[in-house]
Amino acid sequence: MSVFVTRSSMPPFEEYCEEIRELWDSHWLTNMGTKHRQLEAELKKYLNCGPMTLFTNGHLALENVIEAFDLHGEIITTPFTFASTTHAIVRSGCTPVFCDIDPKTYTLDPEKLEALITERTVAILPVHVYGNLCDVDRIGDIAKRHGLPVIYDAAHAFGVFRDGVSAACFGDAAMFSFHATKVFNTIEGGAVCCHSEELLQRLCDLKNFGIHSEEEVPYVGGNAKMNEFCAAMGLCNLRHLESEIAKRRLVAERYDTRLAGTEGIRLNGKQPGVQSNYAYYPVVFDGYPYTRDEIFARLAAEGIIPRKYFYPLTNAFGCYAGRPGFDPASTPVAQRVAASVLTLPMYADLPLETVDRICELILEKD
Ligand SMILES: *Cc1c(COP(=O)(O)O)cnc(C)c1O
Repeated sequence: MSVFVTRSSMPPFEEYCEEIRELWDSHWLTNMGTKHRQLEAELKKYLNCGPMTLFTNGHLALENVIEAFDLHGEIITTPFTFASTTHAIVRSGCTPVFCDIDPKTYTLDPEKLEALITERTVAILPVHVYGNLCDVDRIGDIAKRHGLPVIYDAAHAFGVFRDGVSAACFGDAAMFSFHATKVFNTIEGGAVCCHSEELLQRLCDLKNFGIHSEEEVPYVGGNAKMNEFCAAMGLCNLRHLESEIAKRRLVAERYDTRLAGTEGIRLNGKQPGVQSNYAYYPVVFDGYPYTRDEIFARLAAEGIIPRKYFYPLTNAFGCYAGRPGFDPASTPVAQRVAASVLTLPMYADLPLETVDRICELILEKD
């Protein structure tokens, strides 16, 4: 049987059935029903954050938050991310300006940020890659000095806390994804957390066709509401989140034990004061006798399918070929990491013996 990079967390079948039973009584399947309201309340409690609203997925959450800020111009971001981040900027009519990444955290390098700010810049959109937090303090300082909003793509960072403060609280807004492959899932889903009731109201209107009340339609909105079945899945999965993260931690520690200290293999560093969610297990092969692609092939031959995550960089995507500013050579650190990184299988129920086998294959000399 193949081992994939991830495996979705699911609650016991009976628990989910019990959770959705009342939907058969109410016949209220979507449009901010009781499950939606309950999940919002429980997530706000867990994240200890301000205003939040749920979305049908993380990508539409991101598109809607860009629209809610009414942004038109250049948004500084990074190409070392999932397609969604860059596509959301472009689909919103804005222009991404790519900043290189820090080689240790793989997140936007604040050293290189200020030089990219021009009179056309309207926002900064960094990504908490693999759950590593961005340098939120320095990014926040620079943004404040220039009067720019910061929107975090926190799709990887649900369950990450710094000194007890959740990733939801940094920046002017943070987007989470609750996709099936994320640490916490609602099958498909997402959320935006912010610090402004006014912005929240705009987000709530935008995700429901721009309808504010029965007779008031102030925005040209789309449909990005989370339905009751997804919210119910979230309510169930949230009850098991802590034990899921604890199990992921054991997997990460097993990898650490086996791989640490190997010349040419760089593991993800720990950030001081940061409680991780162990979302991914990235390994960078730099100066190792075998290339990333050779290790990938070696694992794949044994039915173990890691991911070259994030390769290619979004500024190298075919759909952007020829656009000015889309050049992976302009972000050389990101380019080098993208060519040498592999995210290894990581999920709560991954057997430790499988972790051992994966590490043996990586360390084998042929
Ligand atoms: C998963 C992900 C998204 C998109 O979220 P969906 O819920 O799948 O739409 C955006 N950004 C990053 C970094 C992601 O990993």
